[in-house]
Amino acid sequence: MNKIIVLGGGFAGVETAIRLQKLGHHVTLVSNRDYLFIYPISIWIPVKKKSFNDVKIDLEKLKKIHGFDLIIDEVKTIDSKMQTVHLRNRVLEYDYLFIALGMHKKQLKGAQYAHSICGHPEESVVIRKELDKLIAKKTGKIAIGFGVNEDDPSATAVRGGPAFELLFNFSYYLRKKGLQDKIELHFFAPMKEPGRRMGQKPYDKMDLFFKRYKIIKHIGTGIREIEDKSVAFMDGTRIESDLTVFIPAGDGHDVIKQSGLPVNKAGFIKINELCRVKGLENVYAVGDIAELGGPKWAAKQGHIAEVMADVATFNFHNKIKGKPKRKSYWEQLHIVCLMDSGDGGAFIVRNRKRDFIIPLPVVGHWMKKGWGFYYKNSKLKKIPRLPGM
Ligand SMILES: Cc1cc2nc3c(=O)[nH]c(=O)nc-3n(C[C@H](O)[C@H](O)[C@H](O)COP(=O)(O)OP(=O)(O)OC[C@H]3O[C@@H](n4cnc5c(N)ncnc54)[C@H](O)[C@@H]3O)c2cc1C
Repeated sequence: MNKIIVLGGGFAGVETAIRLQKLGHHVTLVSNRDYLFIYPISIWIPVKKKSFNDVKIDLEKLKKIHGFDLIIDEVKTIDSKMQTVHLRNRVLEYDYLFIALGMHKKQLKGAQYAHSICGHPEESVVIRKELDKLIAKKTGKIAIGFGVNEDDPSATAVRGGPAFELLFNFSYYLRKKGLQDKIELHFFAPMKEPGRRMGQKPYDKMDLFFKRYKIIKHIGTGIREIEDKSVAFMDGTRIESDLTVFIPAGDGHDVIKQSGLPVNKAGFIKINELCRVKGLENVYAVGDIAELGGPKWAAKQGHIAEVMADVATFNFHNKIKGKPKRKSYWEQLHIVCLMDSGDGGAFIVRNRKRDFIIPLPVVGHWMKKGWGFYYKNSKLKKIPRLPGM
């Protein structure tokens, strides 16, 4: 029997392991966390709509339900010539490898003065506590922003959506507490048109959101560093801030940078349209860890990680069964985003043919909540999976 290893217990790794098991292959999943973190609904931890536990799925439970083996350990390096994966505590041999370790972050100087909603899951709880302190004081300034990675020119790993969602959710939360005029909300980003990747129509609507949620914008100037209680820009200006939330752009994973696999300048694994690592017949990479091909506006998202898991497992299965059919993830690249604002949301779509935004007051928020419920419970097989989701 083939030894098949999946590295990473996030969106991409779990979906890959589930699909491989379903196709009749026995898989070992390796993750350094014993839970899958549902990042898209973690934006509600700081505003107390979700607890930390609501946003986790225990990998042990998924192992029992789907039948894969599970090792909780840290991956240190991958040796593709020897076909081994070196963990902190042991070495694993493989015949086929699926890499889904996510991405690391391009940190700015002074990163220790900011919190990120996109890094270690526990940070979301720290942000909640810091927000609580400002609410208790009934005054203060909050700055939320995101950065770029100059080594990643296509900028597929810029993560703006969660910054917008946090801003709108914080605004609504403060409004409900009667503090919207006492605690200022600032948004910062170095690019001239943050959010433009979603498409022209959605981008054009963003100013209406900023106005409605009373957010002050600082855009188009490089960020020099985060300081204790301020954000400093290249042009010498500053925003004062009692709570800074910064989402760095993605960067290649350290394990990959040290493993001699083919990577682009930013350190993302080079794959072909079948999700196979370039130059290697038996290694696939899925999710945030891989360099995205296809259109320039493509973005690393959770649902794209799942599309890639489907493509990689389908192609692997057909290859070893001698079937000719293959799938390409390039054809399926698109942006779909339900941008939540706490009191509603907006449904944003960009594909090769068009882009559009549909504002969904009230109902948008409940749709995103419904998605969170569906994601968790369908993975736990408590409810059936819907085709294409
Ligand atoms: C706040 C936030 C909101 C988001 N909202 C949306 C949204 O609304 N819609 C959407 O489509 N996408 C959204 N995304 C993006 C989406 O969450 C990611 O694209 C997705 O998580 C990528 O999945 P992944 O499996 O590649 O990486 P991850 O989910 O990061 O998983 C990587 C896994 O690898 C493990 N790992 C890492 N290093 C090691 C190691 N050395 N050894 C062992 N294990 C390791 C980690 O513990 C983790 O389990 C959001 C992201 C964030 C942060």
